[in-house]
Amino acid sequence: MQMTKGKQLYEGKAKIVYATDDPKQVIQYFKDDATADNAKKRGSILDKGSVNNQIASHLFQLLEKEGVPTHFIEQLSDREMLIKHVEIVPLEVTMRNITAGGICRTLGIEEGIVLNPPVFEWHYKSDELDDPLINDDHILYALKAATVEELALIKKLSIQVNDFLKAYFAERKIDLVDFKLEFGRYDGQILLADEISPDTCRFWEHGTRRKLDKDRFRRDLGDVESAYQEMLKRVVG
Ligand code: 5GP
Repeated sequence: MQMTKGKQLYEGKAKIVYATDDPKQVIQYFKDDATADNAKKRGSILDKGSVNNQIASHLFQLLEKEGVPTHFIEQLSDREMLIKHVEIVPLEVTMRNITAGGICRTLGIEEGIVLNPPVFEWHYKSDELDDPLINDDHILYALKAATVEELALIKKLSIQVNDFLKAYFAERKIDLVDFKLEFGRYDGQILLADEISPDTCRFWEHGTRRKLDKDRFRRDLGDVESAYQEMLKRVVG
């Protein structure tokens, strides 16, 4: 599709959003920049932008076929995705199938405990506050960030995404440990937005528990680029 890239609308830690000649569509450009610990740690992962765009584009298309509405329209190039111009709901959903990261710190439990059923969390999307863990009442009555109906739909869609992705990665010998999702509003609809990639998910190689995601960068484990390439091969290859 011929699409004119217009002015920059927003620059985040890992992506830049550009206008197009259609106000209802924008271009999401994936950078190699990497941050961790709320941008206290900064760096770059070679070709991460390209890997994440390819993985996210592939997964959004599969999820659409499963009946999950997403912001994805088309992969335009190596690092560019054409998306619907949503208004992001300022919430982050975390789905956890195995304990790691935040849940271990919050509850003082060890990494690697299987969570069945999975654990669903709401976080308030706020860099200043470090994306705090919040509950439905915080969202509905304190923040007034979404409606009861929106929360119910986002939760239902998140469970559907987890069920699908967990099985999809299991077939590729990957344990889907946890992931973060964001949603947006578009024409009165709730759409899955942002990205699904090794930046936003924890992936462990089944059996060995080798980490194949951004934890290699966060925890200085080395072999970061090769882990991203390995995930690209397993997802798309
Ligand atoms: P945790 O709460 O354990 O730090 O993160 C849970 C999961 O959500 C991990 O897979 C992590 O990558 C993802 N996640 C949570 N918050 C963020 C965020 O602000 N940015 C990104 N890229 N991923 C996040």
